Amino acid sequence: MPSTPPPTQILGACPHDCPDTCSMVTTVQDGIAIAVHGNPLHPHTDGALCTKVSRYPERTYHPQRVLHPLKRSGPKGSGQFERVSWEEALTDIAARLHAIAQRNPEAIQPYSYAGTMGLVQSESMAQRFFHQLGASLLDRTICAAAGGEGITHTLGGKVGMRVEFFAESKLILIWGSNSITSNLHFWRYAQIAKRNGARLVCIDPRKTETADKCHEHIALLPGTDAALALALMHQLITHDWLDHDYLAHYTLGWDELRTHALQWPPERAAAVCGITVEQITALARAYGECGKRGEPAAIRMNYGLQRVHGGGNAVRAIACLPALIGAWRHRAGGVLLSSSSAFPVQRAALQRPDLLAGRTPRTINMVTIGDDLLRPASPSFGPAIEALVVYDSNPVAVAPESCKGGGRVCARRPVYRGAGALSDRHGRLRRLHPARHHTVGALGCAPELRPHRCAAQPPGHCPLGRGQIQRADFSGAGGPHGPSRPGLFGTLLCR
Ligand code: SF4
Repeated sequence: MPSTPPPTQILGACPHDCPDTCSMVTTVQDGIAIAVHGNPLHPHTDGALCTKVSRYPERTYHPQRVLHPLKRSGPKGSGQFERVSWEEALTDIAARLHAIAQRNPEAIQPYSYAGTMGLVQSESMAQRFFHQLGASLLDRTICAAAGGEGITHTLGGKVGMRVEFFAESKLILIWGSNSITSNLHFWRYAQIAKRNGARLVCIDPRKTETADKCHEHIALLPGTDAALALALMHQLITHDWLDHDYLAHYTLGWDELRTHALQWPPERAAAVCGITVEQITALARAYGECGKRGEPAAIRMNYGLQRVHGGGNAVRAIACLPALIGAWRHRAGGVLLSSSSAFPVQRAALQRPDLLAGRTPRTINMVTIGDDLLRPASPSFGPAIEALVVYDSNPVAVAPESCKGGGRVCARRPVYRGAGALSDRHGRLRRLHPARHHTVGALGCAPELRPHRCAAQPPGHCPLGRGQIQRADFSGAGGPHGPSRPGLFGTLLCR
């Protein structure tokens, strides 16, 4: 009787666009992932994944996974597809892209985001392909661009507190985050702090589960976070809850910020934010006195608050607060939005902008894709978009005014997409639906960056369908007429 091979355990990183960036352990037997659990040796993962990812084997082997290319065989929106071979799919895509590229490669628009977060999967092979082609570039602004700029302009990079040190904080402001659902591992540290006597304040327009479980919920109006931050500064200044030594030695521009903040008394901010003056003064007192007592006060900010007009400056204002009270003197004090600058990444080595060879294609902002798909050719815009290549994203579901783009997708031009996890609405619209792996297995080398620790994914294991990294699709889409050339996809990816 043949013996069953013993299961092996493979370390990897969660591919989701989630601030926790867990380290995963996948148990594989005979090429099949039979279990996934959190890595107990990775401090903030601490052996636990969220409910969604802990059921990844179920998702990976779900019968609705699309494992083969599907070609639309009926009218758009009808959901009628027929299975075709990879060779047919990639040859068809390559021929169509080649024809467009012959006229003007800028009429080809890639569209992607963080459907898979790994550096190889998400942000390298595709860029090499489109750079070589000379396709339009994509400004990937849909999620975090304003806040990223805000925190970088304030702190010098996407840097901040280590998430595990929140457990030692005495006051935690959870600002614009529903941590219980979207930052679970931070919430665990907040609970430890709470058990040790910390006060938790949730600042969020929404009454979320997190707001329910904090000591206080300040439900300000959406888009008014900067006004609240400036009013807190006003109170810190007028009550002299300041760390003058810290401000003098470790900050720039304090005099200008002080002048600006003094224009925001609590009464003005309360009227703007839709909250009471007492809520502002009490919060400022709690924050300022925490600093005066020499206790650590921490802010966990998240990206929700910066998805409004002025959101980047709101992040800047909030990120200034720890400097006023010298919270950064403690490892459990300060602010955390993102720490993705903690690991420098050589993006040029991954994405190869040198393949543009001096060309400067236009850049399309991904949030205006609906309008841009409808835009005719013009001297200012350039060629109309003739092909939209979508992978790691679903603009019909996520882009503002996506009905416009969706209408365009349905109505006129052929649209290709390069990744299919489960059949979805977008899949019903597109003409060709080449399935690609997603989830457990074959994720490639994927350092994830946010919580100050790097979780790296080994090359593919237990692949499904084509089950290769993005390199395979984009090298295949080069086709016999395409732009592939030696070294385009084969250079060293990770150092
Ligand atoms: S909590 Fe976030 S990083 Fe961790 S397993 Fe879930 S989605 Fe992935």
